[in-house]
Amino acid sequence: MRNGVDVAIIGAGPYGLSLAAHLSASKVSYRIFGVPMSSWRNMPNRTWLKSEGFASSLFDPASSFTLARYCQEHSLPYADVGIPVPIETFVAYGIEFQQRFAPHLEEVAITSVVPVADGFELTTEAGETVHSKRVVVAAGITHFSFIPPVLGDLPRELVSHSADHKDVSRFAGRRVAVIGAGASAIDLAGLLHEAGADTHLIARRSAIAFHDAPIEPRPISQRVLNPRSGLGLGWRSRLCTDAPLLFHSMPKKIRMRAVQRHLGPAPGWFAKTRFVGRVVSHLATRMKGAMRTTVATRTKGATRTKGARRMKRATPTTRARRTTRRAVTRTTRAAATSPAPASTPGTRSTRAAAATRAAGRTP
Ligand SMILES: Cc1cc2nc3c(=O)[nH]c(=O)nc-3n(C[C@H](O)[C@H](O)[C@H](O)COP(=O)(O)OP(=O)(O)OC[C@H]3O[C@@H](n4cnc5c(N)ncnc54)[C@H](O)[C@@H]3O)c2cc1C
Repeated sequence: MRNGVDVAIIGAGPYGLSLAAHLSASKVSYRIFGVPMSSWRNMPNRTWLKSEGFASSLFDPASSFTLARYCQEHSLPYADVGIPVPIETFVAYGIEFQQRFAPHLEEVAITSVVPVADGFELTTEAGETVHSKRVVVAAGITHFSFIPPVLGDLPRELVSHSADHKDVSRFAGRRVAVIGAGASAIDLAGLLHEAGADTHLIARRSAIAFHDAPIEPRPISQRVLNPRSGLGLGWRSRLCTDAPLLFHSMPKKIRMRAVQRHLGPAPGWFAKTRFVGRVVSHLATRMKGAMRTTVATRTKGATRTKGARRMKRATPTTRARRTTRRAVTRTTRAAATSPAPASTPGTRSTRAAAATRAAGRTP
């Protein structure tokens, strides 16, 4: 191919970099584009990976530069299971992986990919044209953040996505509603509370499905019945991680059902400390709409601000509506293991959730 390569990799996150490491060790010519670990660099400071240490390595052909190895070389705390991996450690590890295994990375975005007779023609944001026989799109989920239409009427300065917040300190002293009950929501709500924001969590589910803290070593019967995998405990997860091609070969209907039913939004076990007993939760609450109003605070002798409405006695739902008039953060994050009970219920709805759990029902 004229002026071209066999493979172009778009994206320099864990997958793009791991593929580059493998291609570097082969005779395949390739180029890789993107800012290394950029999705991870933009995640909120002072949070942790949900995956355990053993499940958070990038892949070089010899599996020589694992996260365990990186932590050992840099004298950082590490355990295969049980010590949460700080985002900062993971980013630094990914960048060192890139420098070792994909040193020719081009930190430029690809703006278009067009099929041509002998492959593809890619254009970089710098205007260069690249020919490639094959293209691997490893662009991650950054471009797919979604804010539900129910929040669409709010002005952009009042509504944002969890992916927009690396640093939440600007919310200090403000009232913020976090929509969702997955890992990003719970992490952010805890961080917002710590930063001094009056934080309210609004979610449709009636209980927050925190992961169980891992306990190792486990008895052999438990290890057989409920094996550990990179996605959590259980044979289903183990099959997904250890036999992905088996899953891939299944009929679409079965695969779609598995994706819909297996796992789901769930915060890591370590997120409980920051959240439970601190953040006000409005669970089992479905949002019908959100709008901007001027809200009066009814203090003695004060008059209501023009245009403000008298508020009804707060129920979780009305409180939820009120809080959504403030800055709103919507979250998306999936990947989980089995849900575990939350502790120290703090609101009516979390007490209801605890009752649900006590009755043995899975939220
Ligand atoms: C909040 C959050 C927490 C998560 N926690 C975990 C966890 O603990 N463990 C886990 O295994 N997974 C976790 N995930 C899932 C995680 O996204 C994936 O595991 C992993 O990042 C996927 O890697 P990737 O290489 O496919 O994509 P990404 O890491 O998203 O990397 C994509 C790369 O592509 C680049 N790119 C995008 N568009 C272009 C373009 N046009 N041109 C050039 N480059 C481009 C970006 O700059 C970026 O570097 C989490 C996700 C989120 C959102």
